[in-house]
Amino acid sequence: MGVALVGLGYYSTDVLAPALQETETAYLAGIVTGTPAKEEIWMKRYGIPGKNVYNYQNFDQIADNPEIEIVYVVLPNSMHKEYTVRAAMAGKHVICEKPMALNAEECREMIAACNENGVRLSIGYRLQFEPHTQEVMRLGQEKVFGTVRQISCGAAYRHTNRDHWKLKRSMGGGAMMDMGIYPLQAARCVTGEEPLYVSARSYVTRPEMFTEVEEVMIFDLEFPSGCIASLATGFHAGFNYLKVFAGDGGFELEPFSGYRGIKGRTGRGELEFPEVNQQATQMDEVAECILEGRPMRVPGEEGLKDMIVVDKIHDCAAKAGC
Ligand code: NAD
Repeated sequence: MGVALVGLGYYSTDVLAPALQETETAYLAGIVTGTPAKEEIWMKRYGIPGKNVYNYQNFDQIADNPEIEIVYVVLPNSMHKEYTVRAAMAGKHVICEKPMALNAEECREMIAACNENGVRLSIGYRLQFEPHTQEVMRLGQEKVFGTVRQISCGAAYRHTNRDHWKLKRSMGGGAMMDMGIYPLQAARCVTGEEPLYVSARSYVTRPEMFTEVEEVMIFDLEFPSGCIASLATGFHAGFNYLKVFAGDGGFELEPFSGYRGIKGRTGRGELEFPEVNQQATQMDEVAECILEGRPMRVPGEEGLKDMIVVDKIHDCAAKAGC
């Protein structure tokens, strides 16, 4: 199935386009960019014909292009809703990057637009296509080590670019929206539950740089089974771990959310799984699900469930006065 990448920034350029050279069912058919200089480079590098190149103004004409069947939205978070809805109205299936949108309300509008236009929607949670991640989801949800009692998980890196949209509130910036999604996903996917209670506190260690959004978010979730998750994210320091403590032992991944090199162990030994190209596996499976009419592994509803919790985390941190 022909995929058009919308937004040719870091993730499209360095990760998704190379991954689309390794896919079998999906292929890079087109691009949508607001930077004319990129058009020529991409057309040459990937053999994309001029008729499959769009900008943000003529994007809706993609409706008339049968070679493009899937639109992959890889734009700043504040633009996810608009381009998902426009793609759906053009009759294209959509993959939208994480976080799905600015809030749960936008996610609902995106799901409705896809349903109304009879197209499929998937969110770019690449880790759900990764075998170590799939195994820890199974271990937790099937209670292989008993009921999960405590999850500790964190994903953060030190952000140094002062002029990035991830520092702007209106663009959907902030550590929670960027890396916080990973510990939140981990806790929801290991328990297989939705949290009942949320507490959260945000911090800024570099006030001259973080004037609009949080630099750090520390948040706890309590699940119906009684499991407590202590989760952390930030732009202040580098860490990446998932530790799960269950009634009869536990399991962990470290790193847990990288593109490569995920390693894990349980109380019974190492987790041995082959390394996969997460994005290639993800895009191929999405294309196969569309072709075969199968349910998506990561439908829009999964992105919505995260954003319902993210909304509460933001409210809670704001009420805590930080
Ligand atoms: P980026 O800033 O490198 O790229 C964004 C692109 O959007 C650029 O090409 C930019 O020109 C374009 N753009 C169009 N209008 C813009 C505007 N008004 N302001 C700023 N840029 C504009 O960002 P990125 O790191 O590629 O992230 C894009 C999306 O992909 C985000 O939603 C991010 O969360 C997601 N992402 C996901 C993963 C993952 O592992 N799943 C990894 C990286 C990024």
